[in-house]
Amino acid sequence: MAVDSPLSSPLGPPACEKDAKALQFIEEMTRNAESVQQRVLAEILSRNAQTEYLTRFQLNGATDRETFKSKLPVITYEDLQPEIHRIANGDRSAILSAHPISEFLTSSGTSAGERKLMPTIKEELDRRQLLYSLLMPVMNLYVAGLDKGKGLYFLFVKSEIRTPGGLLARPVLTSYYKSDHFKTRPYDPYNVYTSPNEAILCPDSFQSMYTQMLCGLLDRHQVLRLGAVFASGLLRAIRFLQLNWRQLAHDMETGSLNSKITDPSLRECIVKTLKPNPELAQFVRHECSKDDWEGIIVRIWPNTKYLDVIVTGAMAQYIPTLDYYSGGLPLACTMYASSECYFGLNLNLMCKPSEVSYTIMPNMAYFEFLPHEPNLDSTGFDFTHELPPKLVDLVDVEVGKEYELVITTYAGLCRYRVGDILRVTGFHNSAPQFHFIRRKNVLLSIDSDKTDEAEQQTAVENASHLLREHNASVVEYTSHADTKTIPGHYVVYWELLVKDSTNSPDNDTLEQCCLAMEESLNSVYRQGRVADNSIGPLEIRVVKNGTFEELMDYAISRGASINQYKVPRCVSFTPIMELLDSRVVSAHFSPALPHWSPERSQ
Ligand code: AMP
Repeated sequence: MAVDSPLSSPLGPPACEKDAKALQFIEEMTRNAESVQQRVLAEILSRNAQTEYLTRFQLNGATDRETFKSKLPVITYEDLQPEIHRIANGDRSAILSAHPISEFLTSSGTSAGERKLMPTIKEELDRRQLLYSLLMPVMNLYVAGLDKGKGLYFLFVKSEIRTPGGLLARPVLTSYYKSDHFKTRPYDPYNVYTSPNEAILCPDSFQSMYTQMLCGLLDRHQVLRLGAVFASGLLRAIRFLQLNWRQLAHDMETGSLNSKITDPSLRECIVKTLKPNPELAQFVRHECSKDDWEGIIVRIWPNTKYLDVIVTGAMAQYIPTLDYYSGGLPLACTMYASSECYFGLNLNLMCKPSEVSYTIMPNMAYFEFLPHEPNLDSTGFDFTHELPPKLVDLVDVEVGKEYELVITTYAGLCRYRVGDILRVTGFHNSAPQFHFIRRKNVLLSIDSDKTDEAEQQTAVENASHLLREHNASVVEYTSHADTKTIPGHYVVYWELLVKDSTNSPDNDTLEQCCLAMEESLNSVYRQGRVADNSIGPLEIRVVKNGTFEELMDYAISRGASINQYKVPRCVSFTPIMELLDSRVVSAHFSPALPHWSPERSQ
């Protein structure tokens, strides 16, 4: 029930006193965005004044914006690599941050084929926790009664490694789920999960998914919301159900747990709650054996009010499939975050996915915005200039304009380009709200993988070496992220030049080409293929000679300039896809998994 208190928020009536405080906090931060930003920058600069990095730029203890902007360069990950290397190798001096680096967070963004390593400090966990604590109070403004049931969330930990200097390196969510903040979180009736911690924390992805699904099925009437971090993760869970419902139903029928669940603490935890329930088993068999899975989510979990998944950015490609399985349930994108920093949250949770805007929380870091000019994207700005480009402050961005996000964090990143392009859609108080446009230079993405044009080019080159013995070569290529099946997979269209038609590349060679491409792609892609099973085998579709000329004719007929025409290296526009697919002469899939191990190759 809504609380009618003097704390009542402009955002709406809070569901309880705790929510009122959270909403109040959002109001305070967004109303005072400018002063909060000034304070955050001063705090970061004063505590890190003696670090090697700030000393290098002769900040001399200054904490004001003007000095900061005039002395510190805008940088990318590559610029910081020497410092990151030293930290990874055990240098514990105050290089970037006065606070000790507690671990590295491994980003899904890559550099030279490996995940970027983001240094973090202990207190950043509190900052992330703070942002998480705001999500349910906002959700409760839109959906009533979430304290009357549970959330079925598919959450996973991933492998972690130690750097040569002994620091842990792992994804930010793995770090969070393994933290006391998560493991020993106080009971909150608005935030009860069906998955026990043991299931979320089990490092084996099959055992983790199996038991999370089992618990979700056992609690099916209590489930009020279903989620995963990204849309691709939720669809993977649906696919898992398609493949495993018979065994899950067997477990429910007999009250005995699948012998593949071998993790002792997980087994013990599940066995305690698993009792024979033939009725439920019968229900699951009945629903899952139907050929038609349309609306399966609401059939199995009839009280679900919304899906909690990110469907903005690259994940937008999954919206139709989610709509199909959920019968069109609302899709709530709650937050915008990264390994470098958690940025902000969506205050209008029931809006259409295409209208989602994230309000950046000014207390999380110091934010600047590099005006983004789409036609300069391929060349980029020249940051070797003496004068740094003019960056805009959080409260000064203009509605309708696009910017690249640049952050200065408590953990020691200074004027760091995140690589995300955002468009300002409006303001909440004086804090701007942003539509996520895209991540720069990402061509293909199925899950958290991000493949850019250069990586694809290298992969095609490496694979095409295998064509030499057939005296053939790739004359043109393009690609598409095919998400019609789960998991999705990369499709690469090749037009070949075959000099000797009696020795044209056979299926075997082209399959090896698929695998060679996969071997050349970055470690996040290969991890998705090998460990997470979130990406299917890469496919090469060989198209008829002349197809790419037709593609050019088509583009020109639609107004492209003949002089400036460039083959698009990734396509998704339906008429182009139809043209390409109608010219396919053969299709070939990667016959094996590429190499991947949690260890870094460098
Ligand atoms: P990572 O460093 O692997 O955590 O990836 C962070 C990146 O994921 C961000 O910089 C964005 O490009 C993307 N991302 C995170 N949250 C969202 C969101 N809500 N919508 C779209 N993209 C997102």
